Amino acid sequence: MKIAVLGGGISGVALARQLAGDGHRVVVLERAERPGGLCKSRRYGEFTFDEAGGHILFSKDKRVLDWQLARCGGDAGTVRTERNTKIRWHDRWVPYPFENGVGHLTKEAIVDCIKGYVEAHVARRLGAPCPANFGDWIQWQMGDGFARHFMVPYNQKIWKCDLHQMASDWVAGRVPEAPIEDILRAAVGIDTEGYQHQSVFWFPKHGGFEALVRGTCDGGGFELVCGHRVQRVERRGDGFLVDGDTFDLVVNTVPLPQIESAIVDLPGEVRADIRALRPISLVNLMIGVELDEPLPQLSWIYLPFAEQGPTNRVTYFSNYSPHNAPAGHGSFLAEVTHRGDLRADAEWRRGVVQALGKAGILRPERVVLLESCDNEYAYIDQNLEFRARIQRVRSWFDHSGYLTFGRFGRYEYHNSDQCVARAMQVHEHVRELARTGTRAPLRLG
Ligand SMILES: Cc1cc2nc3c(=O)[nH]c(=O)nc-3n(C[C@H](O)[C@H](O)[C@H](O)COP(=O)(O)OP(=O)(O)OC[C@H]3O[C@@H](n4cnc5c(N)ncnc54)[C@H](O)[C@@H]3O)c2cc1C
Repeated sequence: MKIAVLGGGISGVALARQLAGDGHRVVVLERAERPGGLCKSRRYGEFTFDEAGGHILFSKDKRVLDWQLARCGGDAGTVRTERNTKIRWHDRWVPYPFENGVGHLTKEAIVDCIKGYVEAHVARRLGAPCPANFGDWIQWQMGDGFARHFMVPYNQKIWKCDLHQMASDWVAGRVPEAPIEDILRAAVGIDTEGYQHQSVFWFPKHGGFEALVRGTCDGGGFELVCGHRVQRVERRGDGFLVDGDTFDLVVNTVPLPQIESAIVDLPGEVRADIRALRPISLVNLMIGVELDEPLPQLSWIYLPFAEQGPTNRVTYFSNYSPHNAPAGHGSFLAEVTHRGDLRADAEWRRGVVQALGKAGILRPERVVLLESCDNEYAYIDQNLEFRARIQRVRSWFDHSGYLTFGRFGRYEYHNSDQCVARAMQVHEHVRELARTGTRAPLRLG
């Protein structure tokens, strides 16, 4: 078959590589000057930075992790790190997850957290129903103290909205319930680990996270056309027409709102649903510093409070690979989310760095490089209407003959490993289609 893949982020190129391996003729059409999307990295002199915040190689799915590591050159091409993440809680460093770090808070805050946690625990045991909105869910799951001292300020900082307007279902599995015994142990100073998710991760030795994308394209056997913004897609007979070229199959991975106007045969109500889907955007500051001594062996830290400036997370990026910064230097990534209303000019960037200085993260006078990258499509706005809208949109695509997947190609809150896992599922679907010749609806578990 001749297959068009729209968008050359990790979803698009991972699928293209697999389809080309089956002997299909695959053309990836990518708007930017090079592939990678949110996985792109860039260089400034001897510094390398990721463009969309700190990325790590990690997967619960061993097949996917092995696939990703192989694209990055395996053990020889990657650095393995034991995760060490903390929360900057006022003037304290609290181990993450916060529940397991509770013993590091002030005594008053420990009492607030434990009292609230026990109350919430009892209320759940007495049958308090799981709230549909995220604001109430935090109280229901963690209680008032944890909510007030971390969860609410941190989440307000990242999502930039009233948390009661957000759905709660997307957190299931991302924030597992900590056993009450662990919390009590942590409160009296006995170390507890918390969930082991990402306790070890990998990062490409050279070239930043983008090395994953380059390793997927190299020898991938597909045609990659960059600088091509897809403008017009329509069904024509048994196949498709994409900007005047004929294809047997089209797979979209472009953010749906960025491809919607190009797809001629979208019904009006699906178009309206897509137009109502909102992204949360992300300005990523790339900071190079001169060092007198090595950076602390931290992976990343969370900054929940307004007085720490607008940054919600700082990655200690030169700890991921020694090749991310030149000798005698270190580097950070500082993530600031917004809803399309932020102008990251030089003065604003300097203000962010000053706030990080006050929070004790870095010394502003040692900063030798300060750049930023604005990523329009970074996080999914999980508002209460989101699920109904996206289900209608996915359902139309899955029965239309078009295939769509990807972080914003399907609006799934997925990391790159889950994008690769989805690419494997779509690959299987196309195999079946090629074998039987029937266009069955796409079913992604
Ligand atoms: C802050 C942050 C931290 C993250 N951390 C991690 C992490 O630690 N580990 C991890 O694995 N993942 C992480 N992720 C998630 C990861 O970045 C994404 O899951 C993944 O990059 C999504 O890939 P994609 O191909 O689906 O989409 P995208 O990367 O968005 O790719 C879509 C592509 O479509 C192109 N495009 C747009 N319009 C058009 C058009 N009209 N025609 C042609 N092309 C077009 C774009 O240029 C882009 O290249 C993180 C994401 C964020 C925002």
